[in-house]
Amino acid sequence: MKKLSLVVPVYYEEEVILQFLKETKIVLDSLPITYEYVFVDDGSKDKTVEIIKEQAQLDDRIKLVVFSYNHGKASAVSAAIAHATGDYLLYMDPDLQDPPIEIPRFLEEIEKGYDLVWGIRKEKKDSFINRLFSKIFWGTLNKFTGLNIPKGIAVMRMFNRDFADEFLKYNETNRFIEGIFIDISKHWTTIEIGQRERFAGTSKFNFKRKMQLAFDAIFDFSELPLKITVKFGMSLVVLGLLGIFILVVLKLFFIDFQAGWPSIIASIIIVFGLQLFFMGIISLYIGRIYKEVKRRPLYSIKDKTNL
Ligand code: UDP
Ligand code: MG
Repeated sequence: MKKLSLVVPVYYEEEVILQFLKETKIVLDSLPITYEYVFVDDGSKDKTVEIIKEQAQLDDRIKLVVFSYNHGKASAVSAAIAHATGDYLLYMDPDLQDPPIEIPRFLEEIEKGYDLVWGIRKEKKDSFINRLFSKIFWGTLNKFTGLNIPKGIAVMRMFNRDFADEFLKYNETNRFIEGIFIDISKHWTTIEIGQRERFAGTSKFNFKRKMQLAFDAIFDFSELPLKITVKFGMSLVVLGLLGIFILVVLKLFFIDFQAGWPSIIASIIIVFGLQLFFMGIISLYIGRIYKEVKRRPLYSIKDKTNL
């Protein structure tokens, strides 16, 4: 029998854990597989850890890794994958927005031999603003990076052991999970799945964190901002030279004008502004390189249960 690992990041999810276990168990018990849960607590200070530990005492298929502090969802997912031992891994959030009832369909697809099965949201139960943001985010991202991440992807996705092992070879510190997934294998498929409201609790991704994610994604997977910088800078130089040439010709043959202070000051400001802006972009990359070259561990673990 094949073994399925559910890899689940949790952060302040005390209200949903039990319901999550209940709903997934019903589905998993009905399937011809063995299974385990690998929870990674990303530094919650509520009862999340306590609740999972209680359950882990009753059932040793429930495993838990506890981070010493919040390292972000991408690190939590990575740690969960690193501790999972299944032939297939299913990545899902515990808030039940992606319904566990869809698990058998993922299994069916993965058994056809795909490396990865993405869940695609049939309809998105989300506010207008959030939907708009998602659209802009994934749209620009695909344009910028050429990654071609499928439209409307949900969190829920299943992948096989080889895929997980490949994933673990990626050791960048700034990690954009979806980008890495697309980079690992092109042998994937999608299935449409239903959506529900978050079972309880609130979303941890406010606008600021979402912007951060967009930033991570673009700067990790694209060199376009750098290329734009170079092209823009070059065009500016050409334009400037052309301007000077025109002024000189005008002065020599046509108009005897006095160059004014305002234009000089203005051009100095513009040029300095542009320089600062582009230096800023470059330093963003340098900052990231700096972070990468340090090769710091992705996370620090405080505690493990059933592992
Ligand atoms: N999460 C995490 N670390 C964080 C923030 C969130 O591990 O710093 C987890 C959280 O517990 C949840 C998942 O990431 O399982 C997705 O978060 P959430 O449901 O709040 O986001 P949304 O579904 O609204 O995008
Ligand atoms: Mg959610």
